[in-house]
Amino acid sequence: MADFDFDLFVIGGGSGGVRAARMSASYGAKVGLAEEYRYGGTCVIRGCVPKKLMVYASSFSEAFEDAAGFGWSVGTATHDWSKLIANKDSEIGRLEGIYMSILDNNDVTHFRSRTVVVDPHTVKLADGQTFRTKHILVATGGTPFVPEFPGSEHAITSNDIFHLTDMPKRAVIVGGGYIASEFAGILCGLGSEVTQVYRRDLILRGFDDEVRQHVSDEMAAKGITFRYKADIAKIEKTDDGLKITYEDGSNQVADQVLYATGRIPNTTGLGLEDAGVALGKKGEVIVDAWSQTNVPSIYAVGDVTDRLALTPVAIREGAAFAETVFNATPTKADHALVPTAVFTQPEIGTTGLTEEQARAEGEIEVYSAAFRPMLATLSGRQEKMLMKMIVAKDSQKVLGVHIIGHGAGEMIQLAGIPVKMGATKADFDQTVAVHPTAAEELVTMKTPVR
Ligand code: FAD
Repeated sequence: MADFDFDLFVIGGGSGGVRAARMSASYGAKVGLAEEYRYGGTCVIRGCVPKKLMVYASSFSEAFEDAAGFGWSVGTATHDWSKLIANKDSEIGRLEGIYMSILDNNDVTHFRSRTVVVDPHTVKLADGQTFRTKHILVATGGTPFVPEFPGSEHAITSNDIFHLTDMPKRAVIVGGGYIASEFAGILCGLGSEVTQVYRRDLILRGFDDEVRQHVSDEMAAKGITFRYKADIAKIEKTDDGLKITYEDGSNQVADQVLYATGRIPNTTGLGLEDAGVALGKKGEVIVDAWSQTNVPSIYAVGDVTDRLALTPVAIREGAAFAETVFNATPTKADHALVPTAVFTQPEIGTTGLTEEQARAEGEIEVYSAAFRPMLATLSGRQEKMLMKMIVAKDSQKVLGVHIIGHGAGEMIQLAGIPVKMGATKADFDQTVAVHPTAAEELVTMKTPVR
């Protein structure tokens, strides 16, 4: 330790960095951490948490409509965007404080500063201070970007949408991933006229095809206009708003154009190449199963490694790093059968293989049921839930579960446990149904549809 100021210096105070710092310190390491923006990182400050609060906000418009069928008369409902943003900001401030106390309570020395890597054992803060450290953990996350085209400076990203002073009445959202699709639902629910533009033919590439089609249809039924196989050629600022010209020459005017076409790892100018760390094509830090780079003293976890960009995964990777390096328990981060939710409206919960992936691996049975949930009977809403299970024909092991509808995210967390344990269809079926619920479908689907 004599030569070093720290045993570990973590760059980035987000989900992965804070978990790794806290656990390493609890195992006796002397830990420093630098965060250039706000503690808590993307998830807390401009990702999962503010997004989910906005999903909740946007879902009330449907709840008011649904209430009528149950006998309620709800007066004209109005929404105050600035109140939502202010309340959201105060909750985010509270959570940021909790993240700071986690660091303080675990004796992690933290610096509010951009920090770069100088060599395999040295980091440098923005004010020029340098520290010698035995290990460096890069946990700098990712960042949204807007591709360059004429007028691209008028587009905003998911970072900006959380701070708009006014709700865009006419919103164009570019991208087909989960972030684009979630914001389409949020703005639509809050009353915006939403167009979602995607250059391919169906949103949510990588998810189960039946799920993608079902969600796209339900989102369209709620009023979102999809422009598939389309892309923006230019954006011009006019008195009436932002004039969008599509590649096919057609036009549209919007108040905001949100680009959510992808995120890139935060490695630009970080000094990693100078320290000899190998980066991939997108700038991601290349790591092994223990999150170690080709430079033995430098590790990386979370979105910056471009493995599975989810908060709980970054946290697990941070924890596995601390176990490996500071608790003498070599631990690989487990990326198999990770359940996830997409907070589109309707919501998706998914774990395991899609039908397409499973079919490519062997013979399968597909159980699938689309049905009107009980809430929709009196509300009169036409929306359907979807429950789908992919089962290996020989072993009868459940390979994948996909759910669309209210509570899908909550349900998949629980369904993810038996799937991870290797449960068979018979194991699911032996469990008595909880009635009346939508989830009971998971234990009552008797006959494969294909
Ligand atoms: P981050 O949380 O991004 O933390 C990195 C930190 O490093 C940042 O605070 C950054 O300021 C700091 N930093 C960067 N460079 C430097 C530097 N040179 N010096 C000092 N500090 C630096 N995941 C889910 O699981 N569920 C969701 O519902 C979900 N929704 C999302 C919605 C949106 C809109 C977005 C953008 C992301 C969402 N995610 C979601 C993904 C999730 O936020 C990330 O996977 C997670 O935050 C990754 O954690 P991380 O520690 O790798 O990086």
